[in-house]
Amino acid sequence: MTTYQDIVYEKIGPVARLWHNRPEMRNAENTQLLEELNSALAEAEADSEVRVIVLAGKGGHFSAGHDLKEGRALRANFSVEERWAYEDQYYLTYCLNLLNCHKPTIAQVDGACIAGGFMVANMCDLMVASENAFFADPVVHTMAVSAVEVLIHPWVLGSRKAKEMLFTGQRMTAADALAAGMVNRVVPVVELDDAVLGLANQIAQAPAFALKVLKKSINRTYDIMGREQALRAHFDSHMLSHFSEEAKEFKASGKTHSIRRDANGHPINV
Ligand code: ZN
Repeated sequence: MTTYQDIVYEKIGPVARLWHNRPEMRNAENTQLLEELNSALAEAEADSEVRVIVLAGKGGHFSAGHDLKEGRALRANFSVEERWAYEDQYYLTYCLNLLNCHKPTIAQVDGACIAGGFMVANMCDLMVASENAFFADPVVHTMAVSAVEVLIHPWVLGSRKAKEMLFTGQRMTAADALAAGMVNRVVPVVELDDAVLGLANQIAQAPAFALKVLKKSINRTYDIMGREQALRAHFDSHMLSHFSEEAKEFKASGKTHSIRRDANGHPINV
């Protein structure tokens, strides 16, 4: 098995659980972490013993989003071409790899599930959240950019809730996410690990090929409704919004750098 630095690859019977593992950064997704998640996903898909793949986060948060600090340090002066290439690979393509993964996937969400983290978690087939989980995509408000790169929001929330979340930049609680149908189950935080493993093991009992083609059929249902093309179309306009005058002014004013804080006073990156 490959050695990873910013994720943990855990194998429990038929379940592979991939943990974001930068707890001191609220699991902010840097390039290394995204690269490792994508490799670990390929490893889990290729391993015939693995029947179900779980995505989770160490340290009480799923992920506070993309690592903006790294972005400012390494990509602040990227040209359109360079930014396009970066976001196409690390954000759009890696997300689509997860969405189209051949095996069932479950997002195990505790604490912050924000922006880039929201996007990644919502690529999974099912979602189980702790009562402490909260969801948001505030980047219109914090960066003057049109949501994150992969606009999965209306597909998992419906247009009303998706617009409310994106237009206001406000958080959605686990209970609201459950009511909106985005989350399958909400459990007390101490029961989260076991609840996810229980669900994963139940799914793992199903014949693998039947599950694989069933997942393909459900994904195709959404793709026939235009999901993948809609996601790709949004990616293009999202890229444009990075270079709008509005976004440049926002960046120059320093507003982009203002950091939101969670209930415990921890910064929430986007
Ligand atoms: Zn972007």
